[in-house]
Amino acid sequence: MAKAETKKGKTAKSKVAEEEIQAEQSKVKTTEESDENLVITIEKKLNALYNLQMIDSSIDKMRIVRGELPLEVEDLEDEIAGLETRIENFIQETEQLKEAIADKENLIVESKSMIKKYEDQQMNVRNNREYDSLTKEIEFQNLEIQLSEKRIKESTFKLQGVQEDIDKSQAYLEERKNDLEIKNSELKDIIAETEKEEVTLLEKSEENRKYIEDRLLTAYTRIRKNARNGLAVVKIERDACGGCFNKIPPQHQLDIRMHKKIIVCEYCGRILVDNAIAETVEQ
Ligand SMILES: [Zn+2]
Repeated sequence: MAKAETKKGKTAKSKVAEEEIQAEQSKVKTTEESDENLVITIEKKLNALYNLQMIDSSIDKMRIVRGELPLEVEDLEDEIAGLETRIENFIQETEQLKEAIADKENLIVESKSMIKKYEDQQMNVRNNREYDSLTKEIEFQNLEIQLSEKRIKESTFKLQGVQEDIDKSQAYLEERKNDLEIKNSELKDIIAETEKEEVTLLEKSEENRKYIEDRLLTAYTRIRKNARNGLAVVKIERDACGGCFNKIPPQHQLDIRMHKKIIVCEYCGRILVDNAIAETVEQ
């Protein structure tokens, strides 16, 4: 909930609004209408103002929703890009592992051919010492082979793990791509739909403005521009201003219910309407 604006009595904001609106009202009074007619005139204005506020708020809401959807799509696109990079890294890792395995396999081939060579040489040795030295070389090459085989086993195991990661990530990537496609078409539909609705609402807003005098409209536009949530006309809610949530004194509330003049919140300057006006418009 928004924090209540500071209670400083009449703020500069509310003063400007009040002056604008009072000027409008004094014009009404000089026409010397009967009290009853005055009430009807003011009620019409309040109805038009509250109606205008409702229409404009719907347009605001629509624009906010439409503004948030592209962000969802953007988030999804970022996630997909992240997944693709991840998969790319995994693929690079598998290539490195495959290279390491191929290297070790080559080493094994080399060792085997050396063993073959030493065994051939052993057939032609001149003494035991030469024979033993070749045996040692063969043993060494056999150990090299064992070591390479161990490394190949380890790399193969890692390779399987990375391959599983790739498969999982790829499946997830496909899912997210599918989500993106759905989101994108949703977005397109919503934009088309809300744009159509917005045109209708804007027309309604324009139509409604015709029933409100320029001075009042200027005040409305200015209050709306400065107010949080774009609210210039608010209901009394639980004895407080529906815009700034400051309590409205009972006498002030009574004046608002009388519909004899347009009354603004003394704290935030928003135009106040009672439930009777709100209900008439909301119906
Ligand atoms: Zn207020």
